[in-house]
Amino acid sequence: MPPESGPDRLAAIESRLLEVPAGSDAGSVIPITTVRGRRPGPTLALIAGNHGYEYPPILALQRLRGQLDPAELAGQIVMVHTANMPSFLGRTVYFSPVDGKNLNRVYPGNPAGTVSERIAHAITTEVIEESDYVLDLHCGDGNEWLRPYVYRTITGNDALDRSIARLAMAFGIDRVVVDRDRPTDPARSLYCSTTAIVRGKPAMTVESGSLGMSDEESVERIVTGIYGVLRELRMKEGGPDPLTQAVYLEPTEVVTSPETGILYAQAECNQTVAKGAVLAFVTDFFGKRLAEIRSPLDGLVLYIVATPPIVKGQPVACVGTPRHEPRVIE
Ligand SMILES: [Zn+2]
Repeated sequence: MPPESGPDRLAAIESRLLEVPAGSDAGSVIPITTVRGRRPGPTLALIAGNHGYEYPPILALQRLRGQLDPAELAGQIVMVHTANMPSFLGRTVYFSPVDGKNLNRVYPGNPAGTVSERIAHAITTEVIEESDYVLDLHCGDGNEWLRPYVYRTITGNDALDRSIARLAMAFGIDRVVVDRDRPTDPARSLYCSTTAIVRGKPAMTVESGSLGMSDEESVERIVTGIYGVLRELRMKEGGPDPLTQAVYLEPTEVVTSPETGILYAQAECNQTVAKGAVLAFVTDFFGKRLAEIRSPLDGLVLYIVATPPIVKGQPVACVGTPRHEPRVIE
C-alpha cells in the first residue's frame, strides 16, 4: 500500500489553518502541517513563504507532506506552508500588500502590530519557540536571478555554530554564505532564522530558485535537502550523504541602487566578477544613464536583480568572495 493511503499515516499528519486575528488591518491565516513520528526525537520546523513570491519552497513542502510516512519518522516535523499569505495571494515581491512591510525583517513580531508583525509573532510563538531546529526556506524573489546557496550563521557559541554547520553540510547546497552580522537581541531578531538562533535553536536560511519561477530542479533541491537534514538529525533513515566540502562565501556584500529608475543588469548570476566590474546601470524613465553599480569585491554573483524596476536603496546584487574554509577571526 503506498504510504499516502495508510490509515496510520493520516492519523499522525495534522493540517490546520492558524488564525492571525484582525487588528489595525485585516487578519490572515497560516497553513500548518504537523507530522508526528512513531518514535521520539526532535522537532524540526520548515518554514516556506516568508516571502510570498518565492514559490519553490512552498511547492517543496506540499510535495514533502505527500511523501512523509510517520512510521519512518522520529520526532516531529512542523511545516509552515505559506507564511505570508497576503503577499502570496497578492503576488508581491519583498513587501506585504497590506502594510508594506518585509515579513523577514519584522521578527519576532508584535501581537498588537500590523499584519506582517502579527504573522511573525504567530510563527515565533507557535512554531519557532516550539521547535528544536528551524529551516527558513527562500529563493530569489520575483525580481532576483539567484544561484542556490545557504546562509551559515556564526554566533560565537561553539556548540550552536557546530550544529548550524552540520545543517549546512547536510542540506547539500555547496555554496555557503558565512554570516557573522545577524542581530543578537531576541526582541529584535528581524529575520526568521535569527529568531530561532537567538533562542538557542540551530537554524538556517536556504535559497533555491529564482525570478518567480517554480521549476522542478529548484523544488526538488529543497526536498532533497530536507531529507539530508532529517538524516543528519536522525529523524529519518536514508536521505543523501552530507557534503564533505563546500565553497564558503566570505565576505559577501549586498550592493544597493543609488537611484530610482530602470535597471539594466550587466552581469549574470553565478558569474565570477572582479572588484570594480559593472554589475548594472540605472537609467531614468526616458533612457538617460543615472548611475553604474560596480562590484565591491572580487567574487561570485550570488544573485542579481534581473527585472527593470529599481528603487533607490534597494538591493541590486549580492557578491561573495569564494574560500575553501570560513575565515578565522581572531
Ligand atoms: Zn526570501
